[in-house]
Amino acid sequence: MAERMLKFVSTPQAMPEKRPPAERRRDFEEIYARYAREKAAEQAGRCSQCGVPFCQIHCPLHNNIPDWLKLTAEGRLEEAYELSAATNTFPEICGRICPQDRLCEGNCVIEKGFQAVTIGSVEKFITDTAWDQGWVQPIRPRRERPESVGIVGAGPAGLAAAEQLRRKGYQVTVYDRYDRVGGLLIYGIPNFKLEKEVVQRREQLLRQSKVGFVLNCEVGRDVPLGELRARHDAILIANGVYKARDIAAPGVALPGIVPALDYLTASNRHGLGDAVEAFESGELDAKGKHVVVLGGGDTAMDCVRTAVRQGAKSVKCLYRRDRANMPGSQREVKHAEEEGVEFVWLSAPQAFLGKTKVSHVRSVRIHLGMPDATGRQTPQEIPNSHKNIEADLVLKALGFDPEDLPSLMAAPDLAVTGWRTIKIDWRSMMTSLDGVFAAGDIVRGASLVVWAIRDGRDAAERIHGWLTAKAAEAACLAAD
Ligand code: FAD
Ligand code: SF4
Ligand code: SF4
Repeated sequence: MAERMLKFVSTPQAMPEKRPPAERRRDFEEIYARYAREKAAEQAGRCSQCGVPFCQIHCPLHNNIPDWLKLTAEGRLEEAYELSAATNTFPEICGRICPQDRLCEGNCVIEKGFQAVTIGSVEKFITDTAWDQGWVQPIRPRRERPESVGIVGAGPAGLAAAEQLRRKGYQVTVYDRYDRVGGLLIYGIPNFKLEKEVVQRREQLLRQSKVGFVLNCEVGRDVPLGELRARHDAILIANGVYKARDIAAPGVALPGIVPALDYLTASNRHGLGDAVEAFESGELDAKGKHVVVLGGGDTAMDCVRTAVRQGAKSVKCLYRRDRANMPGSQREVKHAEEEGVEFVWLSAPQAFLGKTKVSHVRSVRIHLGMPDATGRQTPQEIPNSHKNIEADLVLKALGFDPEDLPSLMAAPDLAVTGWRTIKIDWRSMMTSLDGVFAAGDIVRGASLVVWAIRDGRDAAERIHGWLTAKAAEAACLAAD
């Protein structure tokens, strides 16, 4: 092993080639190239094969990282793919968009002193190679089961569950209110982080595996949850969280101030070739505008980088805490800075100015005070520190909450928590309704793709356990 592995002392960390910022600003292509085979093997060989791999512990899917790194270093890519696919439904997606600096790579033991193994890039390389080589094949279950499962939501949680259930032979139908499959993977996350073909080839694979999709179908509006329960033996709700948080400040209703997801969805739809009126009219296009984005999470980072690519005159990100305390990935901030985004740390909007549409954001400087009950320092406004920032387009990226699901789904007995997320029994993942399970953001609150995949896989396992027990019980009763 020593020959191929443990090379972190002699081999420096090298990410795949990154396109120069001037080029990136002009298009929506992904910013990293793929590793050449030898480079992937070399970088995988930096792993020290830890006895207690902290990378694996801190990956929500507990991917068997040291083993697939070793197989990659040895050139045994098909085995590496099989091992990687055993724990992760969409490894090439996680390899692209997981905040690795907070998860696997941030906990790699060689990070301090030698820089982490480039786990995400190797993961992406393995599965992209598998697609090229034809190793990724539709599911052919060993036996078909008669029971059917209905899944509400074609985001990563719903799709991961669909894939796992189909593997076990269940008849699976996924319902989504959108016209495309993928949830935030298709309409939220921009192409420069995750090319849409990567999501669409997964959709095709699921279709070839005989997973059914009913699109343009909003559960609650087009079909009541009760009807779905009658149609299927079990239901999984995986419909994400979409209610955008707002800000109460004078002038917030002025034209030109829009929710981040409306803006990103319009951009993604435009990129996919759809005619988007609000984009064509310029309302949701940043071209030639001074853009101010409010927030410091992943959504804010996607907005600033999209605005740069659309040809904005200037792009500023206003965040009330400092760089160290922002929720978004530090890697994303670095990409954004390289692409010309200006971060205005420790600043909060106080009012929006303009006659017929927004023209300026009045911001105030913030001082981080004493930590609150959660341990985070409380932002406090510094008196007389106002500044007016020019803005033709203001994007509100302040987070998301769940909608009022019991009303929307016409299911008053569906129990929710104080945060309006769906309440589940964490052992069974079942909601207050018999045979109705839930997973992903709608249970956790706005989170990450990798957690949605983990939840979807876990939910599939629990649904299988519940359906199997039910079938056994029915067989016993029939025998009596
Ligand atoms: P979603 O992906 O939201 O999917 C839910 C699906 O349910 C949607 O397709 C929706 O149309 C459908 N639906 C909703 N209501 C109904 C209904 N009543 N009937 C039928 N269908 C319905 N995470 C990362 O790990 N890395 C990132 O880089 C990253 N970037 C992000 C960027 C943005 C702009 C946003 C908003 C989020 C980002 N996230 C990122 C978070 C990540 O996208 C989510 O955590 C993840 O998609 C949640 O998956 P989900 O399946 O629970 O929900
Ligand atoms: Fe890292 Fe995400 Fe892959 Fe896990 S799934 S190994 S956290 S990139
Ligand atoms: Fe390899 Fe780093 Fe994981 Fe250790 S923590 S097994 S060095 S990738």
